[in-house]
Amino acid sequence: MITVAKAKHIILENTQDFGIEEIPFLQAIGRILKEDIVADRDFPPFNRVAMDGIAINHRFFEHGIRDFKIEGIQAAGNPQQTLVNAANCYEVMTGAVLPNNTDTVIRYEDVDVNTLVATITIDEIKEGQNIHRKGSDKSKGTILIKKNTIISAAEIGVLATVGKTTVKVAKQPKVMIVSTGDELVDVNENPLNHQIRKSNVYTLVSLLNNLKIPAETAHITDEKSILKEKIESYLKQYDVLLFSGAVSKGKFDFLPEVLDELGVQKLFHRVSQRPGKPFWFGVTDNCNVFAFPGNPVSTFVNCMVYFYPWYLTSAGLHSEEKTAILAENINFKPNLSCFMQVNLTSKNGQVYATPIQGNGSGDLASLVEADGFIELPKTEEIEFKKGSVFPILTYRSF
Ligand code: AMP
Ligand code: MG
Repeated sequence: MITVAKAKHIILENTQDFGIEEIPFLQAIGRILKEDIVADRDFPPFNRVAMDGIAINHRFFEHGIRDFKIEGIQAAGNPQQTLVNAANCYEVMTGAVLPNNTDTVIRYEDVDVNTLVATITIDEIKEGQNIHRKGSDKSKGTILIKKNTIISAAEIGVLATVGKTTVKVAKQPKVMIVSTGDELVDVNENPLNHQIRKSNVYTLVSLLNNLKIPAETAHITDEKSILKEKIESYLKQYDVLLFSGAVSKGKFDFLPEVLDELGVQKLFHRVSQRPGKPFWFGVTDNCNVFAFPGNPVSTFVNCMVYFYPWYLTSAGLHSEEKTAILAENINFKPNLSCFMQVNLTSKNGQVYATPIQGNGSGDLASLVEADGFIELPKTEEIEFKKGSVFPILTYRSF
């Protein structure tokens, strides 16, 4: 049985390149940018008036002049106008171009304005004040957003302002999520006493949705011939297959042998971890197969531990490791890596992880009480000390 580190290593050696596609910029939220976004002009593109008020020549104020005849109004959206007599002023609005032949803006709060004349009521004015200088934020040609950035609302605004109606992003893989098991019925059905509703496909769909990866879903009963027939066609159609269930040691866990018979190259089966030990991973020329054990917590944690970094690395990103401080001593006896469910709280800039007492990997409801998992390494030690720092995986923003 291989270690978690070795399993991760094998998975990251088997990434895929899905290529690039160009999509409307507003649909790009959450996607991975695949081009540098460059300033198409100076930011701001002209000397921008930053306050509603008047624009003057500072030298007249310096010579003691306080009353300035108003020559006109420069509104936002109007072409630049020119102050004809340098001793006069222009009324100017935020977002307007600074009129030619002026150099300083005084806000209305510091001016008395009547229809013809503006009188400055304060004694101190800095030359050049209240002007957002052309190119002072960024000059034309500067890279504003680097390739491989995950696009957020901030990036959408910048894409809009530089006129990128469409944008190049990482193409998403074609994913099929398959649940297995004769005990499972649909969400809208009333299960009989010996049945349960399927939930894993929906958590997997949602975990992939966090990465903006759309996925199709299917369910196959525990019948070898049907499994084989369906998977054969999925292997041709999809870049990734995610399975939940049928990879353990049960009499009806046919998945490993079916995948083998279909020519999927097994890279490992079983990882020394809890939960999620029976995980099976393999590849064909065009498809990666992640077969997670069916217990809900196992499927959930393995998707985050293995599929997430596999996808991010495939798309050209590095997944960052987050850590937290153990808030309590933990005893964990088996010599396996442990992904323990925890609540995460932050205090004075530090993140603390408090273990949740779940009822094992079948305890689906415990996922709701937790915020994520803390990864305790495989070691001979039994006790993990309060105050030690370990990697975490979280499914909530906190
Ligand atoms: P298996 O890995 O197929 O042996 O399944 C292990 C446990 O997980 C069994 O109790 C299954 O009923 C449960 N299980 C498997 N698949 C699902 C699913 N899609 N949704 C909820 N529970 C599941
Ligand atoms: Mg099963």
